[in-house]
Amino acid sequence: MGLPHYQHYINGKWCPPSNNDFIESINPYTAKPWCLIPRGNANDMNQAIEAAHLAFTQGEWPKMNATARGALLRKLGDIVSQHAEHLAQIEVTDNGKLIAEMSAQLHYLPQWLYYYAGLADKIEGQVLPIDKADMFNFTLYEPLGVIGAITPWNSPLLLMIWKLAPALAAGNTFVLKPSEFTSASAFEFAKLVEQAGFPPGVFNVVSGTGQEVGDTLTAHPLVAKIAFTGGTQTGKHIYQQAATHLKKVSLELGGKSPNIVFKEAHLENAAKGVISGIFAATGQTCIAGSRLLVEKSIHDEFVEKVVAIAKTAKMGNPLSYETQVGPVTTKPQYEKILSYLDIAKAEGAKCVLGGSKATRPECGDGWFIEPTIFTSVNNNMRIAQEEVFGPVLSVISFEDEEEAVYLANNVIYGLAAGLWTQNMQRALNLSKRLQAGTVWVNTYRTLSFMSPFGGYKQSGIGRESGQEAIYQYLQPKCVWISTATEVPNPFIMRLK
Ligand code: NAD
Repeated sequence: MGLPHYQHYINGKWCPPSNNDFIESINPYTAKPWCLIPRGNANDMNQAIEAAHLAFTQGEWPKMNATARGALLRKLGDIVSQHAEHLAQIEVTDNGKLIAEMSAQLHYLPQWLYYYAGLADKIEGQVLPIDKADMFNFTLYEPLGVIGAITPWNSPLLLMIWKLAPALAAGNTFVLKPSEFTSASAFEFAKLVEQAGFPPGVFNVVSGTGQEVGDTLTAHPLVAKIAFTGGTQTGKHIYQQAATHLKKVSLELGGKSPNIVFKEAHLENAAKGVISGIFAATGQTCIAGSRLLVEKSIHDEFVEKVVAIAKTAKMGNPLSYETQVGPVTTKPQYEKILSYLDIAKAEGAKCVLGGSKATRPECGDGWFIEPTIFTSVNNNMRIAQEEVFGPVLSVISFEDEEEAVYLANNVIYGLAAGLWTQNMQRALNLSKRLQAGTVWVNTYRTLSFMSPFGGYKQSGIGRESGQEAIYQYLQPKCVWISTATEVPNPFIMRLK
C-alpha cells in the first residue's frame, strides 16, 4: 500500500502540486517516510495568493461583520477540539514530539480561536476631540489584506494558530506555508476549516521548501504582511525580501535563554525548571533554557541535582505516554546537534552527562541524542552563544547579581529568561533588567493565549497572543469630516 498523499488547499479546493512532485515526510522515531506532501512551486503559491486576495476583496468574507467572523472562528474552535487527539497523533508522527505534550497542546489550541473570536467585535476606534473647529475626527481599524504565514517544524499547529486566529478575527485572509519537514498537520487542519464553512480563499495551504515556495510568498506584491516563526538567519532573509514591497512583518526567531538560579532559590523546584527548559521537547523549542546560570556557591550541589533528574529521563517512542525525551525532528537538525557536541568539547567544556547520540534499544533507528550537560562553560564559547535547538545544557557560574544580569543579557537573543529566587525584591528588579520578551520567575516554559509573546533583540519583531497581537493584523485609519460651511484659504495647510 502506498503512503498517504496530501494535496494543497487553495481557494477551498484540494489541488495536486502543479508539477506533480511530492516530498517524503519522515517519522523521526523510525527514520522512515510515513506520508507524502506536495512539493509546491511558484505557480501553486501564486494561485493561493491570488485566491486569498480575491477572497479579501470580493465575495462573502469582506461582507461578513466582526461578530459573524467571531462566530465562525468559535465554530472552528469547537471542531478543532473534537479532532484534537487526531491532530496530536499526526504531529507526533511527523515531528517526534511527545504525545503527552502534543495532546495537551492540541486540546489547548482552540483557546486561541475562542479568545480572538471574542475579541473580533471589540476592536473599537475612537472619536478624537480634535483641535479644529467644525471638524469631526475618528479612527477605524481595518485589516491589512493577505497574510503570508511561514512556520517551523517544532510546534506546527500551535505556531500557526498564533497567527491565524488574530489574522482572521481582524478580517484578513491567509496563506500558510508550513515547514517542509512537518506539513501534514496543516493539511489535516485545512479539512477542519473546510468543515467549519469558511468562504473559499480565506485559508490556503501550500507546502514546499523555502526557496521553492517561501520566497514567492515573501516577495509577492499582493501579500500585505509576513508572519514568520523560524530561525534568525531565515528571518533576516525574509525581512529583506519583505522590504521590496514594504510589507509588514512579524518575526518570532531563535533564542539562547538563560535559566538563572540564585542560592536562596527552592533548589528542588529550580532543578525541575531547568530540566523542563532544556530537555522537554528534546530542547527543540525557541524558549529552551539552554544556558543555566548558577550562583557559584551552589554550583556543584545544584548541577548534581539536575544531572540526577536528567539521568532518569526515559527515551523512546514519542507516542508512548511514558516517554520523556523523544527523537530530534529532522536529520539535518540531528547532525547539527551532534556537531555542537564536538564544538563544545573542542572549546574545553566539560561533559558531565550524555554528549553523544543515543543508542539505547528503545530508541530504535530514530534520531536520538542523549540529554547532555556541559559544565565549565564560558559565556563567550559558541556553545553558550549559538542556538543548538537540542537537549544540550551549558552551565555557567556567576558570583553575584550584577554578573548574572551581565551574562544573561550578553547574547544576541532575547526571547525568554527564567529566574529562580525566593527574594521578591530581586525577582522584581531583575525582571526589569533582563532583556527578554518573557521573564518567568520560579516557573519556566508556560504560555497562554492571553499573554503577549515575542523577542527582544535578534529574537524577533512583534508579539503574538494577547490583545497586542490583533493590532499587528490591523491598521488604523483616521477619518476627517468637515462640518464647515466654507473651505478656508486653500493655499496653506489647515492647522487651525
Ligand atoms: P527555519 O528558519 O529553517 O524554517 C522555518 C520556515 O521558514 C520553514 O517553513 C522553512 O521552509 C521556511 N523558509 C526557509 N527558507 C525560506 C525562504 N528563503 N523564504 C521563505 N521561507 C523560508 O527554522 P526551523 O529549522 O524550521 O525551526 C527552528 C527555528 O525556529 C529555531 O531557530 C527556533 O528558535 C525558531 N523558532 C522560534 C519560535 C518563536 O516563537 N520565537 C518558535 C519556534 C521556533
